[in-house]
Amino acid sequence: MAVPKSTPILIIGGGAFGLSTALHLVQNNYTDITVFEQDEQIPPRYSAANDLNKIVRAEYEDKFYTDLTIEAIKTWKTPLFAPYFHQTGFLHCVSGAAPQKAQETLKRFQDAATSHPTIAPHVVPLNGPGDIRPWFWQCDGPLPGWRGYMNRFDGYAHSGNALAGIYRVTQGAGVKFFLGAQQGGVAEIVYEGGKAVGVRTGDGRFHAAGLVIVAAGAGVGKILPSLGTQIVAKAWSVAHVLLSDEETAALRGIPVTYARDFGFFFEPDPKTNLLKLCPMGGGYINTDRASGVSHSPFPEHLDVVNGFLPAEDEGRIRKLLAQTLPGLAGRPLVKKSLCWFADTKDSDFIVDYVPGSQGSVVVLSGDSGHGFKMFPIVGGWVRDLLEDQQGEQKVSRWRWKEAGGGKEDWGGDVSWRLGESRELRDVLPGRTKL
Ligand SMILES: Cc1cc2nc3c(=O)[nH]c(=O)nc-3n(C[C@H](O)[C@H](O)[C@H](O)COP(=O)(O)OP(=O)(O)OC[C@H]3O[C@@H](n4cnc5c(N)ncnc54)[C@H](O)[C@@H]3O)c2cc1C
Repeated sequence: MAVPKSTPILIIGGGAFGLSTALHLVQNNYTDITVFEQDEQIPPRYSAANDLNKIVRAEYEDKFYTDLTIEAIKTWKTPLFAPYFHQTGFLHCVSGAAPQKAQETLKRFQDAATSHPTIAPHVVPLNGPGDIRPWFWQCDGPLPGWRGYMNRFDGYAHSGNALAGIYRVTQGAGVKFFLGAQQGGVAEIVYEGGKAVGVRTGDGRFHAAGLVIVAAGAGVGKILPSLGTQIVAKAWSVAHVLLSDEETAALRGIPVTYARDFGFFFEPDPKTNLLKLCPMGGGYINTDRASGVSHSPFPEHLDVVNGFLPAEDEGRIRKLLAQTLPGLAGRPLVKKSLCWFADTKDSDFIVDYVPGSQGSVVVLSGDSGHGFKMFPIVGGWVRDLLEDQQGEQKVSRWRWKEAGGGKEDWGGDVSWRLGESRELRDVLPGRTKL
């Protein structure tokens, strides 16, 4: 049976997935929605989306996600989301020294873009630096052996601002919010006879619920231990270069520039003059030796992982800059951090009822580091689940994986990543345990 619209619904997590869910539910006349967020602010410092920008690129190796992103981009262009969307284009390349795996991945993305009727008209092949410069005339680096394609259908979204905007809209529409470790931090879901009846927050208070939706990002495993290793809390590095007003203005309108073997950067933010960079790599995990599950080190260790950039990632970032904007390659890197997301082995999301919870708990997770582009539409998938008469996730790849969903063969690693994941304790100086 579908979930009645008057059901008290508690959403754990005020990040991208939680806020999108609150938006879609309130827009569809669910009348009793409360969001719990452990940080005191939205955008929360613990959210992977608390950031200047995220790539919004439509082409996936998997047409299922390509079509979803096309739908998301359509929604990014509506009045509610348009202030945060910048269709600057996506310059997607490899350098001449890229390993075979990066070259093959690029080819699959390019094939996906050029074979899709909606995207293909926006794609231009780039067979060397001479083809690239017209799309990025500010680039005065050597671009040694660079080739790939430019996709003008793509761009980026200002993720922190988008969260703040949708927070205001949902609050105005009647969604209740509890923020901060005490009032908003959910210590546990409270069950009676296997069914969730509410949550208990950091201050010990019990909040009754008819349905609990867990949208806790990389923190999901602490709230729902039964997920086990379906979800791996994983981090990638982020760093910035602080520019002058003139430098920011000169780089206005540059495409998102991505070398698969080094990483990527964005048009600088005119408010802060920050140019954001992300190195590409296998990321970092934080495995608990007893359970074998990787957990986010937040909120306890925010101070430890913020301000930290592994040396190997700094090397990739500096190479990327040396080949594209060499004047910035030696600049100090500021606002360094490790950004935590919820990874699945097959990069598929999980949007499903928790088995055994008698329809009282939904998990919305497994963003796998590519979920923000879906911000305008994610909540619609939860609404579809709640409206389903059989209470069943019809999209089999989004089911709780151990309940028979997901792909049969997850394979040894994820095709679009380069490099192996490393334990955080092995790269963090002086730390053996987090
Ligand atoms: C470096 C990096 C780069 C990325 N780049 C891109 C990109 O280019 N394009 C793209 O589409 N996506 C990108 N992503 C992924 C994107 O950020 C995520 O897909 C998205 O933020 C996932 O949303 P979420 O709501 O699941 O998690 P989050 O946004 O992390 O939000 C989870 C929230 O839950 C809260 N929470 C956790 N536990 C509790 C609790 N017990 N009680 C209360 N609150 C709790 C947290 O405080 C947090 O605010 C990137 C991610 C990273 C790390």
